[in-house]
Amino acid sequence: MSGIDNYSKSKKLGEGTYAVVYLGTQLSTNREVAIKEIKTEGFKDGLDMSAIREVKYLQEMKHPNIIELIDVFSDSKQNLNLVLEVLPGDLEKVLRDKSIVIGGIDVKRWLLMILRGVYHCHKNGILHRDLKPNNLLMDPMGNLKIADFGLARNLNQPYEKLTSNVVTRWYRAPELLFGARYYTGAVDVWAVGTIFAEMMLRTPYLPGSDDANQLVITIQALGTPTEDIWPGVSHLPLYNNLTVYPAPTRGELRRRFAAASDAALELLEGMMIMNPGKRWTCEEALLSRYFLEEPLP
Ligand code: ADP
Repeated sequence: MSGIDNYSKSKKLGEGTYAVVYLGTQLSTNREVAIKEIKTEGFKDGLDMSAIREVKYLQEMKHPNIIELIDVFSDSKQNLNLVLEVLPGDLEKVLRDKSIVIGGIDVKRWLLMILRGVYHCHKNGILHRDLKPNNLLMDPMGNLKIADFGLARNLNQPYEKLTSNVVTRWYRAPELLFGARYYTGAVDVWAVGTIFAEMMLRTPYLPGSDDANQLVITIQALGTPTEDIWPGVSHLPLYNNLTVYPAPTRGELRRRFAAASDAALELLEGMMIMNPGKRWTCEEALLSRYFLEEPLP
C-alpha cells in the first residue's frame, strides 16, 4: 500500500497558518502518525513554496533532533499531506505551564538537543530561519525536535539576497532588525540564544511589541553595536540615529539570570554577540564548557 490508501485520519491535533494537522494511522504498519494537510485553496504561490521547502528540507535531513518526515501524499482534493512523527508537546507549552518544574539539567538537555539539531541543519547547508519555542516539538520522553521548515533556506548561496523579514520578532537577530539582506547561520544561533535565555527566565527575553520596539529593546538589553565592534553595521538600511546603550557587564547578566553559572553566561554571551561574524557558531556553542560541568545532561 502506498499514498492516500495507506493512511486514515482521525482527530484534529492543531491548525497552523498554512496547514491543518490530524492524528492518523499508517495502515501498513499500524503506526500512529501526524498528518499535516497543507491548505492549497485560496493561497497564492508564496505559501505553496513553504510546503515545497518543508518537504525538500525534511527529506534531506534525518536526525534525532529534527522531526521525521515519514511520507508525502496527495489526497482526493489534491491537497499535499506530510506524514510526520507524532510529537504531542512543544517547548512553548512547557515553559508557559507553571505547574511543570524545570531544573537546570532540563534546560541544559534541551539546549543541547536544539543545538545538535541546528548544527545538523547548518552542516547540510540549511538555515532554519524560524526557531522559536513553539517550533521545538517534544515527544513524551522530553526529547526535543526541530519542526516547521516552511521558512528554511539554502545557506550555500552567499550572493543571493534574502529577505530580512524572517524569524518571529522576539527571536530575530540584530542583523535582521537592521535590515541586512545577506546573512548566515548566525541568525539561527541568535534565536537559540534567546530561547536559552527564555528557558532560564521562563518568560521571553526580548519581547518586542513591534519591529521598531524590537530593535530598541534589543540594543537596550545588549548594547548598541558600533563600527568598532561590528564594522559595516552603520551602513545597514535600518541603522540610523540610535541611542548608544552600553553592553551589559557580566555582573549585570548575573543579576538577570540569577541561577546561571559563569559557563552558562559565557555561552549565552557567545550566542548573542551582536556582530554576526563574531557570534559563536553551533559547533563552538556545542563545545562550551557549560555542557561539561555539573549537572551533566
Ligand atoms: P504551521 O506551520 O502552519 O504553523 P504547524 O506545523 O505549526 O503549522 O502545526 C499547527 C499545530 O498542529 C501545532 O501547533 C501543533 O499543535 C500541531 N502539530 C503540528 N505538528 C505536529 C506533530 N508532528 N505532532 C503533533 N502535533 C502537531
